[in-house]
Amino acid sequence: MSRSSAAHRMPAVDAHGPLVLALHELGRRAGSMRRVQRTVPAPADWALELVRVPAGADVELDLRLEAVMDGVLVSGTISTELAAECGRCLEPVRSALVVDVQELFAYAPDPDDEEIPTVAGEFVDFTGVARDAVVLALPVNPLCAEDCSGLCPGCGSRLADLPADHDHDVTDPRWSALRALQTGSGDTKTRPTMGS
Ligand SMILES: [Zn+2]
Ligand SMILES: [Zn+2]
Repeated sequence: MSRSSAAHRMPAVDAHGPLVLALHELGRRAGSMRRVQRTVPAPADWALELVRVPAGADVELDLRLEAVMDGVLVSGTISTELAAECGRCLEPVRSALVVDVQELFAYAPDPDDEEIPTVAGEFVDFTGVARDAVVLALPVNPLCAEDCSGLCPGCGSRLADLPADHDHDVTDPRWSALRALQTGSGDTKTRPTMGS
């Protein structure tokens, strides 16, 4: 791999980016360590269809930067909040999210694995790593409760908000029509059981 192509891949880093971590105090001596604790506003792209970290919500970083032979190992936790809609009844759901992260930022790009992020001068840009870790931890099918029974197929109301005897026998003409059919074809309840 030529040096020029490696230099070309060096990402431009905004030193003031909320998820850009400075390495000035860390140095390159393997074993040196530094803790970074900071609260930053959540970016807008930490989101899936039904669930997201609200843009601007507090994101608490508690990270350990450790110089190792080939780069800087960043590990720790990202803590923030989730806002979602229940996948069954669409009620708003709020919860907390804590994600463990660990990523090696290499001093030099690995020609065999371009996925490995690299140190950019005196910084590591944690933005992409943090987003991947958070989005991967988002629940794909968030629920307001494990046993959420969803919406009434008859009227679309949330079943949890309706009385237990809620049904549409009287009000829904489709049910009335079905009942009339059943009545017309005889009383199904007294049909003899098989084998008796
Ligand atoms: Zn629900
Ligand atoms: Zn209903």
